[in-house]
Amino acid sequence: MAAKVLLVEDSDTQLKFLKEGLIENGFDVETATNGGEAYKKIFEYVPDLVLSDIMMPVIDGYQLCRMIKNVDEIKKIPVILLTVLDKKIDSFWGKKAGAQLFLSKSIDMNELVRQIKATLRRYPLSEEYKAALMTKSSPDSAQVRLNTILNDLLLKSVFANEFRNLSDFMNYERVLVEKLFSLLSSFVEYSVAGIFFASPDDFAENILYIDTLGRNLSKSLLSDIQYDFFRKMEEYRALKNTKFEVVRILLGKELDYKFTDLTSKIIIPLIFDKKLIGGICFYTRQDMDYASFRYFDIMISELLAIFKMKYQYTEKEFMSVLDGLTGLYNRRQFEISLEQEYNRTKRHPSDFSLAILDIDFFKKVNDTYGHQYGDYVLKTIADLMKAAFRKTDLLYRYGGEEMVMIMPETNIEGAIIPVQRLRRTVEEYDFEYNGVKSKVTVSIGLTMNYPEFNTPAEMLKSADEALYKAKESGRNRVILYEQQQ
Ligand code: GH3
Ligand code: MG
Ligand code: MG
Repeated sequence: MAAKVLLVEDSDTQLKFLKEGLIENGFDVETATNGGEAYKKIFEYVPDLVLSDIMMPVIDGYQLCRMIKNVDEIKKIPVILLTVLDKKIDSFWGKKAGAQLFLSKSIDMNELVRQIKATLRRYPLSEEYKAALMTKSSPDSAQVRLNTILNDLLLKSVFANEFRNLSDFMNYERVLVEKLFSLLSSFVEYSVAGIFFASPDDFAENILYIDTLGRNLSKSLLSDIQYDFFRKMEEYRALKNTKFEVVRILLGKELDYKFTDLTSKIIIPLIFDKKLIGGICFYTRQDMDYASFRYFDIMISELLAIFKMKYQYTEKEFMSVLDGLTGLYNRRQFEISLEQEYNRTKRHPSDFSLAILDIDFFKKVNDTYGHQYGDYVLKTIADLMKAAFRKTDLLYRYGGEEMVMIMPETNIEGAIIPVQRLRRTVEEYDFEYNGVKSKVTVSIGLTMNYPEFNTPAEMLKSADEALYKAKESGRNRVILYEQQQ
């Protein structure tokens, strides 16, 4: 059976010339003179290939191509675009629109036929596909379809833009989460939303950040949600073989917990490269069919990009020894070293001290001067630390704005000296970045390997308690952990 070509061309002479040439070469040809007509004819004629001019009035070749590639029933039909223009940007745009091939109109008939045959071989339509299409009528007018596509494209670029701005915050999980919630809440109706970033570190805590839009919800409800969410996440951890996938679990009214007044939910595990990289969830009070939101998929594909970036960022941090911003050792190294030092001094008794530092009112620094300024402050404090301590002391960035110091062979009396020196240096330092000056202080909790501790974690906790007291009693000070009698 002859291959069926739908030829789309607005110029009569061109149309006639091409049609005759194709028929002579054994093709079955149907014609249309603009994109709108072509779109309708695809459903009536069911071609094996669309050969279209680009420059046409009303709906042009790119738009026709986009329409074809956006409608499930017809998107497998190969499209060849023809143009008189031979510019790079045309072929770029043609490819973006999903065209399989892009040919110059000056091509001779033999070459055109050869290219059509090659394209047909490369993108054959199955009989089932064509049979299914035969039974469909054009779902809506070309103009309606085109408007939908253009709106989606616009929405996609707006979403993409909004989400792209978040890439500056890969470093600051909590800020990233805040920004994500504020973005999500402007697109999606929810009573409770949750965000979870999976970590490449198997031992990392699973945290579900929850947004309740400022409402106070009961602890038990929140923990039900958390349980519900992570139960789903566990099912999806490391099991899929697809490379890039969003799984939607739409459970509608199937809420089997005590979610009293929440009636709808959607939980979305985000999977990339067979790994669970995170997830989001929405719960609502009203009945909500999230699947019916046209923009939901667009939003999720943008979200996936952010989650992917975040995962890769965390992975890089996890694999490396140093913290990227400050050049101090990172948290993982701290955990390893603390354990080693702790075990070593258990076997061969000697002293070692541990200090934990937290910048005072750091959120305000960020809020007032911006995150870049905050980063500058963090980096500067790391530099001041390096200057204040001996080469044998070990310095780490523990978390966002928290640093820890391990001082081997040093008891608490000895440790106070560099720790106080650091506190004073920071207090006296004139921070200045891009012409903006500020003063910053730090609070520090200090402890040492007292015999009362049974694990490194207990020792760390004691430093944390001292830090808490330093904060509570007015900040900008060093507080020592007091041994239990
Ligand atoms: P406090 O004196 O009680 O410690 O107040 P605080 O504002 O410092 O404490 P809080 O823990 O509430 O805020 C810490 C803030 O540190 C939150 C976040 O905005 C900021 N932060 C955390 N990590 C980073 C980072 O890597 N860079 C920047 N610029 N800011 C960070
Ligand atoms: Mg803090
Ligand atoms: Mg702080």
